[in-house]
Amino acid sequence: MPKARVHPPHIAALVLDWYDRHHRSLPWRSPPGTPPPEPYRVWLSEVMLQQTTVPAVKPYFEKFLNLWPSVRDLANAPVDQVMEAWAGLGYYARARNLHKCAKAVSEQHGGVFPNNEAGLLELPGIGPYTAAAIAAIAFDEPAAVLDGNIERVLARVFAVETTLPQARPELRKLAAQETPQKRPGDFAQGMMDLGATVCTPKSPDCLLCPLQARCEGFKRSIAETLPRKAAKAARPVRHTIAFLLQRAEDGAVLLRRRPPKGLLGGMLEVPSAPWRDTPWASGAALEHAPTETDWLMLNGDAVHVFTHFELRIGAMLGRVTAREAAKLDGQWQQPQEAALPTVMKKMLGLLPSMDEPKSTKSRRGGRVRS
Ligand code: SF4
Repeated sequence: MPKARVHPPHIAALVLDWYDRHHRSLPWRSPPGTPPPEPYRVWLSEVMLQQTTVPAVKPYFEKFLNLWPSVRDLANAPVDQVMEAWAGLGYYARARNLHKCAKAVSEQHGGVFPNNEAGLLELPGIGPYTAAAIAAIAFDEPAAVLDGNIERVLARVFAVETTLPQARPELRKLAAQETPQKRPGDFAQGMMDLGATVCTPKSPDCLLCPLQARCEGFKRSIAETLPRKAAKAARPVRHTIAFLLQRAEDGAVLLRRRPPKGLLGGMLEVPSAPWRDTPWASGAALEHAPTETDWLMLNGDAVHVFTHFELRIGAMLGRVTAREAAKLDGQWQQPQEAALPTVMKKMLGLLPSMDEPKSTKSRRGGRVRS
């Protein structure tokens, strides 16, 4: 017979008490006991925090609030400007959806976010997690919030041994069961903080944990092995050659805008050969060069890891005069000034300084186009 799960008494009071004393101060939060933060701030931070860490998000959150203090301001901004402000934060579809959502709130809801989970879920780019988090934190609705930190704490306290993602419905039920009617937003934030600072993925600090006496995972000495995860498949590798084309007079580089849909949609890019499964020979890569010039294969290379694949980047350097540059499609920017996704910054990182002699390069690419 399967062992019946032991349900410890509800954990909310312990979590709230701990949160009152140990909460993290974050720019998008209101401290416990004060009025809830504006929904705009909660929404912005929650969208930014998906797939990104708190330290990485803080400067972006502040930059966005300075540029666009309200959801209407964000809605009125040109989407390219929003994408550029987002550059470096990754997962660029989020920026596009952020802008769409701001427009929907501004145009269909008079600039006011719906004040409940169901209404929030109707907005573009807001999924079940974000809707629950905004409803709980900004509107005090007892919505069940389940992010990675909360999943881990619940899986350990209730010793859920089912592998993720199959365990998610069970964890969602537990989140709903534990969420209190009073202070649901603080409870969710308390669970997030507990997961981020005490019940960490490796070496949880159980001796400092307010839930230790209720934690089945701790009692059974399996906490650190939870939540269980399916073995990850090896990440495929793709290859490209970046074409670093410089304007000889001032060192500006050629950048282009990617198509609006797809990976890094709408962001600026360094022109590159198609990202494919096999490495490029320089001759074949040059078929994709943005112009004819003397292309030099550079010695360095770079790697960028996306969620679903790893990109290995080689680079070729070309230089053109201002007169030649003016004939090419795209825009010319100083490398250090361009607002670019991290992968594109890595490509530009392969650029030698303007004074570096060309002879340091390994090989000479030919003129391939007229
Ligand atoms: Fe996590 Fe340990 Fe606390 Fe259990 S006792 S919730 S494993 S930190």
